[in-house]
Amino acid sequence: MVDCEGLVYIYKSRQLEVVALQGLDLHVESGEMVAIAGRSGSGKTTLMNILAGVDVPTAGKAVVAGHDLTRMSETERDRYRHEAVGYLLQRSQANLLPQLTALENVQLATLTGPAARDDRARHLLVRLGLGGHLHARPAALAGGEKIRLALAVALANGPSVLLADEPTAELDTATAHAVLTDLASLLEDLDTTAVFVTHDPELERFAGRVIQIRDGKTSTETRWIGSREAMVADELVIMDRAGRIQLPRAFVEKLALKERVRLRLEDDHIAILPPDSADGQHD
Ligand code: ADP
Ligand code: MG
Repeated sequence: MVDCEGLVYIYKSRQLEVVALQGLDLHVESGEMVAIAGRSGSGKTTLMNILAGVDVPTAGKAVVAGHDLTRMSETERDRYRHEAVGYLLQRSQANLLPQLTALENVQLATLTGPAARDDRARHLLVRLGLGGHLHARPAALAGGEKIRLALAVALANGPSVLLADEPTAELDTATAHAVLTDLASLLEDLDTTAVFVTHDPELERFAGRVIQIRDGKTSTETRWIGSREAMVADELVIMDRAGRIQLPRAFVEKLALKERVRLRLEDDHIAILPPDSADGQHD
């Protein structure tokens, strides 16, 4: 569904050039929910703008839902933005028209005929927990409800891919959890692929995979295995020629690893343990 390879994006102004993405790889299968994580300035929003068809890659490969983002006419790009993807911008207010009700905001974003438009809009709002707020204006909604509405707007056209840039940044963790729980279930039913940016390690767990971006490149990838309650993280990291790897921060913190760790060579893997761990505990 998403196939990026060696993606480069350079912001150019008269004075300077900023290389925001420098050879990023990203592959997302149909129906996946993937989180993009990384420090501020690492290139997350730049990536989302490219996937959303807002910015054109400077170099590299970027194909989304069969559309080649590097070679589209303006007309094709326009259609792509309206039909292939739904995009929730980093500042969620920008996604909503304040003078329209919740229902009208979603209806406006659909391209189908009036009857289907109404059905779909209502369905999305109900599924996102806004059934009781169909006629409320955005200003009357709580923070979590505004995000729910913005998500319904982004899904209005039945896009192949939902893109959301830090959708829950302004919410407390409990509210963010509730929103993402409803969203995940809706996406599954709609069979919609999703890529969302998040800063919050708690929320990464809603994704089947977490991709870390560092300095405009994909650095590590975590796959959550098993149910959401009992998850095992399986991470792919790069090993350099000297055999050095960087352990993911979450792993280091989980086991409170500091300075020295114990490495144990097993038949087909290497275990990394706290230095004082008891021997003989094989998995
Ligand atoms: P993130 O969303 O991960 O915080 P961004 O994609 O917004 O990161 O930014 C990546 C890099 O590109 C940063 O160094 C940022 O300063 C730079 N950048 C972002 N937008 C612009 C712009 N419009 N002009 C110039 N540089 C930009
Ligand atoms: Mg950003």
